[in-house]
Amino acid sequence: MSVAVNKAGAVLHTFILTASIVLLLVCPACKRPELFREAKFQIGTVVTLSAYGSDQAAIHEAFVRAFAEVERLGALMGNDPSSDVSRINDAAAGTAVTISPETAALIATALDLSLKSQGAFDISFAPVGKLWDYKAQPFVVPDKETVAASLKNVGYKNLTLNGSSVIKTRDGLAIGLGAIAKGYIIDSCVEVMRASGIEDGIVDAGGDIRVFGKKGNRNWVAAVRHPRDTSGLLMSFPLSPGEACATSGDYERFAIAGDGKRYHHIIDPRSGYPADNFISVTVIGTSAMIADARATAFFVMGLEQTKEFLRQTPDCEVILIDQQMRCYASSSLKKRIQLIDKSLLIEWF
Ligand code: FAD
Ligand code: MG
Repeated sequence: MSVAVNKAGAVLHTFILTASIVLLLVCPACKRPELFREAKFQIGTVVTLSAYGSDQAAIHEAFVRAFAEVERLGALMGNDPSSDVSRINDAAAGTAVTISPETAALIATALDLSLKSQGAFDISFAPVGKLWDYKAQPFVVPDKETVAASLKNVGYKNLTLNGSSVIKTRDGLAIGLGAIAKGYIIDSCVEVMRASGIEDGIVDAGGDIRVFGKKGNRNWVAAVRHPRDTSGLLMSFPLSPGEACATSGDYERFAIAGDGKRYHHIIDPRSGYPADNFISVTVIGTSAMIADARATAFFVMGLEQTKEFLRQTPDCEVILIDQQMRCYASSSLKKRIQLIDKSLLIEWF
């Protein structure tokens, strides 16, 4: 949910466009490098591809290939009936399901993060996740008994992966890759665009981004939205070539219940309830997949567990915002961050 901002400060928001409208900032005949951009609605969000260059036709071709990559991976990792995810969810306990090596590698990464996050990140959240249907009108808070009953089917330790074969030990176990596959797809699209000859660009899926190269001689710049005033920006920072930035927040997929409380889509798999430590977590790192998954994990883990995780694994930087709009950020970001909302106080750690 971060947005890419180029050096000129023009915020490149991810607009919601229908699949048929393609937005091309076109410079028909000039050879001067230009910023080209196309967006499509895919995998439940807006995927925006940007490239800085002068060969419009080659750039368009690269975009076509990258959008096809999103379709290909979305069919494997989404909820289509024939996807790897659906085949695992539909299988009976004890049945070995053969999945694609790519989905298997993703599940292996997810299970490793489940272990390291003490279950805060858990792709088997799905049985309890679906109780929090923020799209339902009216939104109904599930009762404790229903949550407790669903929670019995949650637990990553009930999923075993052997090469490209998955076996679950509980019939009711169901997985969802919403917290990690989008990042993986972003990384894959970067590789497709680079292999198509694009040297400088951005892949943005629902505001999670990865940049490569630069915009001329300047680094690409990302920004973090204000979690309560989502037309506003909190801060911006340059991203080095190849860096990714992913944000998990409680402000895009949520409902306000009759009790006035906000219920959203990031679940603590240990309690079965939406996590309430933070309202926005941004992770900056070298892989969109890792940044995507860790943003969700840290959102559920809370401040002290996140700090401990980063002491053990200091390979990414974070910006954490809690319910009282207190902000905690990696001290290595101090020189990089430009505050836009001057009222924000940052505690560096
Ligand atoms: P993140 O914080 O990155 O992830 C939150 C999502 O992760 C939740 O929506 C839930 O799916 C899951 N999750 C919640 N808690 C946990 C936890 N503790 N551990 C692990 N996972 C958790 N959306 C649609 O509306 N329609 C679609 O057809 C659709 N298809 C998709 C296909 C693919 C391949 C992918 C990757 C996503 C798709 N999505 C779709 C969006 C998806 O369902 C997620 O809601 C979305 O990716 C959330 O991304 P985020 O960065 O906003 O939130
Ligand atoms: Mg994410």
